Amino acid sequence: MIEPYSNISEEIYQQLKDIVGDEFISKDLEILWCYAFDGTIFKENTVPEIVILPENKDEISEILKIANKNKIILIPRGSGTSLSGGPISVFGGGIILDLTRMNKILSIDIPNNLTVVEPGVICDDLNFELNKYEYFFPPDPASSCICTIGGMVANNSGGVQAFKYGVTKDYVMSLEVVLADGQIINIGSSVRKSVSSYNFTGLFVGSEGTLGVITKIGLKVIPLPKSRKMGLFIFDSIESIIQAVIELRKKGIIPNLLEFMDETTTKASFEYLGGDFLS
Ligand SMILES: Cc1cc2nc3c(=O)[nH]c(=O)nc-3n(C[C@H](O)[C@H](O)[C@H](O)COP(=O)(O)OP(=O)(O)OC[C@H]3O[C@@H](n4cnc5c(N)ncnc54)[C@H](O)[C@@H]3O)c2cc1C
Repeated sequence: MIEPYSNISEEIYQQLKDIVGDEFISKDLEILWCYAFDGTIFKENTVPEIVILPENKDEISEILKIANKNKIILIPRGSGTSLSGGPISVFGGGIILDLTRMNKILSIDIPNNLTVVEPGVICDDLNFELNKYEYFFPPDPASSCICTIGGMVANNSGGVQAFKYGVTKDYVMSLEVVLADGQIINIGSSVRKSVSSYNFTGLFVGSEGTLGVITKIGLKVIPLPKSRKMGLFIFDSIESIIQAVIELRKKGIIPNLLEFMDETTTKASFEYLGGDFLS
């Protein structure tokens, strides 16, 4: 264990077990190994000492108080798809706090274009529910079928539709966060024209779990587009593509995504799909 952090004694393990119950804490090596990875390449010495799956903010608050008092590393984790090592214990040891049990959609408030969710809700699951109201949450990382909203907020995730719709930070209205000392704070507002105070919400979006554990998220949602059209255009130079994009923007036409395929990629797609993607 690196200085100044401590190992987890049997006494502390018992205290943590009392908070979440026997079923939701583990120090079995085969379980710990599952948490030694994220979407990055294999690393050595990233096995935590214990994994805890809390159910609510009060449990998280108690866990953080113990970790803070005893100088124990604690890393929040969603689905572990990060491409930057955020949800793993980079020096080994410590507690991985797996938030996937906290996966409830708490409210969908269409008149106010809002939804409130727990951090472990999967992005596509949220959109599945919102689509029933013809609404959606636009940020679309390629991992949306598995990544959690908590992980998206902590990584400020975005995807190919960011050109039109922006990224996660553009949709976070409010957060409930448990700080390192166990204090629970509520920041942001459900009101779009809230202008008072510092932008604390913006500070937590993209903080990769370093500032606290996000336990509740208020998100702006928007109506699904009424119709969709796809166009395919063939250009003879990269310069003319750039010019076309500039002209589109000048005319106020904002496609939800623009994909540029060079000759090699187009040929590879043709070979793979047998040309069918043009029909
Ligand atoms: C195939 C693939 C495609 C991807 N495509 C994209 C893409 O298009 N765009 C993009 O932006 N990213 C992409 N990613 C990266 C990653 O999927 C996203 O950043 C995703 O949002 C992470 O969510 P997660 O639930 O897996 O979080 P995790 O990987 O578990 O955690 C990510 C970070 O958030 C912190 N964290 C998680 N939950 C909380 C919480 N409740 N409170 C505080 N901190 C928390 C963790 O400590 C960690 O630092 C991709 C990854 C893969 C493997």
